[in-house]
Amino acid sequence: MSEAQLRAEIVAVAQAIDRAGFCPSKSGNVSARFGDGLLITPSGLPYAQTRPDDLIALSLDGTVLSGSRKPSSEWPFHTAIYRARPDAQAIVHTHSPRATALSCTRRGIPAFHYMIALCGGADIRCADYATFGSPELAANAVAALEGRKAVLLANHGVIALGGSLAGAHQIVAEVENLAGQYLDILAAGLAPVILDDQEMARVSARFAGYGKVG
Ligand code: 13P
Ligand code: ZN
Repeated sequence: MSEAQLRAEIVAVAQAIDRAGFCPSKSGNVSARFGDGLLITPSGLPYAQTRPDDLIALSLDGTVLSGSRKPSSEWPFHTAIYRARPDAQAIVHTHSPRATALSCTRRGIPAFHYMIALCGGADIRCADYATFGSPELAANAVAALEGRKAVLLANHGVIALGGSLAGAHQIVAEVENLAGQYLDILAAGLAPVILDDQEMARVSARFAGYGKVG
């Protein structure tokens, strides 16, 4: 994919998560690996106004390589995830409403539905709280993402990574769906039946051969 195509795709994903209602008050950010570094959305710029030229190229240590805008305040966790996870080609962060509500309880999502396996394992963890944009938040997110493609950030939102922008986008949308279903079950005063590790391993094996996007 050319740089121009990648820039256009990052903006398209950012505008799609915004239209889906996942980014109140211009929250969230999107990045993709590019060369030895990454391209990332600018800080605070409304997505409807964001153009491919507004993206910032960073090295994996966070040095600005090109771009006139300020990079997303969450560049520490984007760069930390790319450094720790060779499988991450793209990262999408949102404050999608239901997943964010659940994150405020500081609990993750157990395997109450088989689609949890899309996120890489038998649960979605909730990373320990740290201030947005901090290196501590980056470290907490990387730790809670071990073996996973999605994580809740306590009192904050969601991070999803993927082998492609489409993959990370799909996962962040599925996390919102699953968080909503889980909250509905809890709100009804019910307790879901949790699928065991053996069944979740079976589902993961099936996903490996299934038409997923990456
Ligand atoms: P930026 O606009 O700086 O990317 O920040 C949004 C956000 O969600 C911070 O966690
Ligand atoms: Zn955020």
